[in-house]
Amino acid sequence: MIELPVLNRVCGDCQACCEWVAVREFMKPEREKCKHQCANGCSIYESRPNECKQYHCSWLAYEEYIPLSFRPDVTGLFMESIELHALNGERLLVLTMAWEMKPNAMFDIGLKELNKLIVPGHAMLVFQYGSVSEQALSTPVPMFANEEDAQHGADLMQKLNDPTTKIGTMDGEHTVEEAMRWTDDLPR
Ligand code: SF4
Ligand code: SF4
Repeated sequence: MIELPVLNRVCGDCQACCEWVAVREFMKPEREKCKHQCANGCSIYESRPNECKQYHCSWLAYEEYIPLSFRPDVTGLFMESIELHALNGERLLVLTMAWEMKPNAMFDIGLKELNKLIVPGHAMLVFQYGSVSEQALSTPVPMFANEEDAQHGADLMQKLNDPTTKIGTMDGEHTVEEAMRWTDDLPR
């Protein structure tokens, strides 16, 4: 069982994932505003799907790597992370994928500030605004702090190429194949 990170932060006024992330329960595609978003947040908050309740972006879950000032609605940079673990459960690498939700978000933040996030144990891939995810996957160069992390990054990518690898998704643990099949089923 993949342990979910401990969450100490709260989302506040941010609603970025309600637009950026797909919701399987009502076939909401990614990058499309959820029909339940309202001025106060979620109009069905108490009965929202479990996948919404369990969802955590990198800003919410990885405060050791992502500063408070990087909340997605503030920066325009949306971040999700995946982890590589050793057999004994030790966390070897957190790889954060960051998507610009608006043009030039990463330049507005400043490349120096972004580079500060690349520390041992934490690597990043930044996707420019307008990238179509599948086409863009091979485009950005992952940024690693050292050779060891780069090797872990390569191991992580290899695992993700195996459809039987189990990954933590927003509604629990699934194989890569299940997660991909689900994404393929969503309207675009
Ligand atoms: S994007 Fe992150 S901070 Fe914003 S509402 Fe979603 S989980 Fe919370
Ligand atoms: S149901 Fe509510 S929490 Fe879930 S995506 Fe829609 S607005 Fe956000």
